[in-house]
Amino acid sequence: MSAGSALLSFAPLRAMAMPRGQKVMVVTFGGGARDEETFAPEGQENIPHLMNELIPRATFFTQVVNRGILGHYVATASLATGVYETFDNFAAVAPENPTVFEYYRKDRHRPASDTWVVAPSNGFNRIGASSFRLYGPDMGAGVILPKHLLAAALSRQEGSNYAHLLRDNYETPFYTPQLSGNEFQLHQLNGILNLSVAEFTAHARSLASPDELSVYIVRQLMKELAPSLLWVTLHDMDIAHAGTYSLYLEGIRRTDRLCGEIWKAAESEPEYAGKTTMFVLPDFGRDSDGDPGGNGFQHHRTGDPLSRTTWMMAIGPHVRENVSINRPVQSLDLVPTLGALLGFSPTMAHGSPLTEVI
Ligand SMILES: [Zn+2]
Repeated sequence: MSAGSALLSFAPLRAMAMPRGQKVMVVTFGGGARDEETFAPEGQENIPHLMNELIPRATFFTQVVNRGILGHYVATASLATGVYETFDNFAAVAPENPTVFEYYRKDRHRPASDTWVVAPSNGFNRIGASSFRLYGPDMGAGVILPKHLLAAALSRQEGSNYAHLLRDNYETPFYTPQLSGNEFQLHQLNGILNLSVAEFTAHARSLASPDELSVYIVRQLMKELAPSLLWVTLHDMDIAHAGTYSLYLEGIRRTDRLCGEIWKAAESEPEYAGKTTMFVLPDFGRDSDGDPGGNGFQHHRTGDPLSRTTWMMAIGPHVRENVSINRPVQSLDLVPTLGALLGFSPTMAHGSPLTEVI
């Protein structure tokens, strides 16, 4: 046996089949969307881009069950580790189990520049790497907090003109999490993303929401670094906590449009076109109108079945188009599925690969 074939016989099967330069993007349709305002018949008018542009090209899982804690950071961290994380949602802590970013970088020997998270709130600053022994920040993802960058770029006086972009979260307005210092800093904007602070703040002035700011950063990352594993957490719709239904719907409609724009960017960027698989899923739902323990769409506190059952779509060159999968799957299945696609072994993750899309 030649050395070459000996090496090949030990390579993971999927890695051998994987086309060179394959990219994966995960977009969380967050924070907190109910079926009633999205894929239920009465909600479909709010999501024309998902319905008309993405669904016809996607494999769509209609029942994705989340049995974890329904707080945005802890739930998104659980999506990224494949284990229901149990830490306090409002604590500046790292996930306890290895993240998808660490598995990918360690198993595939990838550099730090190859995996990034764009996150909506300072409370997500530790999501790029776990506290798990043998893993950790040296193998994690770079985390960009666009609001933090914008706040750092503005003087106190200018900040009031950008207040609509700077509100850190919608659930506990007075929570101000400590940043760890590992997150992407303003002085890196020019060197890493080829974006001057003046350009960044001038562009921000034209944007309507924090998620638009995040997608602007995502596009810059795609152009400048073309990471193979890119995770963006959208969050505008969580303005529902303020109790105004029309703002919640506006958030969903904007998220729908931005998902369409992210996919268009993946189709038009040469580094991504034809080799990108994108997963879109909510972090979880919101309370049902009928549960006496809740206030309907406003919060996600009762843990009722509606708030735990959402959906996921996968779209990409190897994914079957216009297919619905109605068997119940778990939100924890995402990481093992990404492992099968990108050729890494998420040994601590509790879910199973979704065979329909790998
Ligand atoms: Zn919320």
